[in-house]
Amino acid sequence: MKRAVFLDRDGTIIVDKGYLADPEGVELLPRAVEGLRRFQAAGYDLLIVTNQSGVGRGYYSAADAEAVNARTVALLAESGIAITEVLYCPHLPNAGCSCRKPAPGMLLEGAARHGIDLERSVMIGDTATDIEAGRAAGCTLTLLIAASPVPGAVVVADLAQAADYVIGYPENSA
Ligand SMILES: [Mg+2]
Ligand SMILES: [Zn+2]
Repeated sequence: MKRAVFLDRDGTIIVDKGYLADPEGVELLPRAVEGLRRFQAAGYDLLIVTNQSGVGRGYYSAADAEAVNARTVALLAESGIAITEVLYCPHLPNAGCSCRKPAPGMLLEGAARHGIDLERSVMIGDTATDIEAGRAAGCTLTLLIAASPVPGAVVVADLAQAADYVIGYPENSA
């Protein structure tokens, strides 16, 4: 079975602009490309798992969310990075769905569809809910980008440093 890096989108791969609905606003974070390239070269599938409650709140449409996702994928593709799939949750926080992080639904779905071994996979995000989703899905390793510390979480500055941690130190990878 393959292993994967599950990635939050906003604040992890692209600048978090808060309910981004315009693909023109997509801006890759510093060293995101560098980090993702290294994960890809090491044989990890790359999947994006993103909460987009702006859809449920009526701030923008599902088509808008998908356009922003597509723009993110296209920008990464320009740098030779292939994203296996983008999964997003359009629901409101209180909808009780199984996909909105911290629930693990999107990770479980992506893993099932692409034959991914969750135990040997990594979740990287910029909030505690990302870390919780990764743990709930069974990822052995979860990394938090900057932000405020979370008990028990490994904190890195960006995706390049995340790649350093996982690939540069094989004992860290499951
Ligand atoms: Mg985020
Ligand atoms: Zn959902």
